[in-house]
Formats: sequence, structure tokens, C-alpha cells
Amino acid sequence: MHSCQVPSYSFANAYTWCIEDTQRRRQDLFNLKMGDLTGLCQLYDRKMNEHAGHEIVPMAATDVGPLDLDDYRNLYEQKLLNKGLRARTVYDDILSAGLLRGCCYCSYGDATELDHLLPHSHYAEYVIYPKNLVPSCHRCNYIKDAFVPLTQPDNLIHPYFEDYSEYQWLASEVIFLRGWPNVRYWVRFDDFENATIPARIEHQFNMLELPVRYGTQAAKEINTRRVGTFRSVFRAGGRDGLVAWLANEHQDQFRANRNSWMTLAYRAFLESPQFCDFGWA
Ligand SMILES: [Zn+2]
Repeated sequence: MHSCQVPSYSFANAYTWCIEDTQRRRQDLFNLKMGDLTGLCQLYDRKMNEHAGHEIVPMAATDVGPLDLDDYRNLYEQKLLNKGLRARTVYDDILSAGLLRGCCYCSYGDATELDHLLPHSHYAEYVIYPKNLVPSCHRCNYIKDAFVPLTQPDNLIHPYFEDYSEYQWLASEVIFLRGWPNVRYWVRFDDFENATIPARIEHQFNMLELPVRYGTQAAKEINTRRVGTFRSVFRAGGRDGLVAWLANEHQDQFRANRNSWMTLAYRAFLESPQFCDFGWA
């Protein structure tokens, strides 16, 4: 979970470009709704700043006049995703922000698609609103599905409105199962003044199945990617050499993201005497 650069394009850009090659009469109908939709996007910003997305009431079928909700939903599939149209610029701009740091939800998967933070099945009015579109990996997008927050604690951490990168909210420890190290992950609360934010982080962490997914990444790191390196470092420098090497890896990862599975894996390795004694391999 990490914050993301806010999209370069506004709702007006996205909407205008999505409807520009529509049949004239329909374009007029879409244009008639532009003021209402702009107001709803302002409401979205206000509510997300207050971490109160659950208070946004979805637009009703009766609110859209001669158009229907699917006319709005289709703007995403048929226009914003369409590589031949100018509207695609908006999609590509948002996705490009995810290329460098990966999926905003898990912080390790490749950001290959955009997730509707408030799902398009419930909120047709935000289907092409750039700030409702989040660079995501396929797995997170699939698991999150059409999740709708119903209460304040359900609100997902919004990568354009919230930034907790200076807080240490992820914790870890090495546990030995059948003599082999594994990493257990959980959300810690003690870096925050009250429990409201970390409780939301924890809710999202569990919803996206990150305890298991992070544990799997750490297991691969140990078993397939690094065990040979750990062995060489230990043989060359003993326990102290391994500790120094792990500390260095941890520092590098910490600088990039203090709450990534990798940072916390190396911290857990360092803090485990049994791991550093290397009797397990
Ligand atoms: Zn992800």
C-alpha cells in the first residue's frame, strides 16, 4: 500500500475526450450532464479527504435523464481503454505512474491495469474519473473485485489522498516451520496517535490477502532466490558477515519503501538469532 502521483488529467479532460467522437445527439445529452458530474467529482474529493468514501451515495438510474447508467459505464470500456482514441491518453497517464513503484495496493505486483477504487458496478458516475482509477496488479484488482465501503473503517487507503509512507505500519518476524525459516507479517498500530488509520490499513491488508501473499514472497526470497547467497556470505564472513550483509540489504530496501514485504523480510532475518546463526541451511 503506497501513495501514488495524482493523475495529470482532470475529469473534464477525460469526459470531453470520451464523448468527442460520439454521435452528435448523444454528445449533447452527455454535455448536459457535465455540470452535475463535475459536482459529484468535487464531492468525491471532499469525502476522500475526510476518509469517508462510504458516505458517497451512488447515482440512481433516475438521476441520469435520457441516458442510462450503462451509457456512462461504457465510456470506460469503449473510450478510455480504446487505443485509437485521445481518451486513452488519460488511461496511459495513470498507468505510467504505476510503472515505477508497482501496484498501489500490494506494492510488489506489476501495475498492469487500473482498478476503480469505488467500483464501476456501483458508481457509474466515477467510471472515468481519473482520481478513482488506481494503478493495480491483476491479483489485487481481482481480489478487491466490486468492494464497496459501508462504514468508516472499511474505507480503503486512497493512494491519491493519503500518504503513510513515513509511518512504520508493517511488522514481521521469522518463524521456523519444520526447521526452515518463514516470515510472518502483520500490521502494527504503535506508530500512530490513534487506531483509526492503522485499523483501516489492517482491514485492507487482510482483505487483499497480503499476510499470505507477503509470506509467499518471503519464502521464495529465502528458498529460491537467496539461500545460495546467504550461504556464501556466511562461509566467507561467519555470523557477523551475514548480519552486516543483511543489514545492508535492509537499508537499501528501507530507503525505497519502509513498509514493503522485502524491507520487513530483511528486518525479520536480522532480528532472528536462529536465522543469523545459519544452522538451518
Ligand atoms: Zn497488487
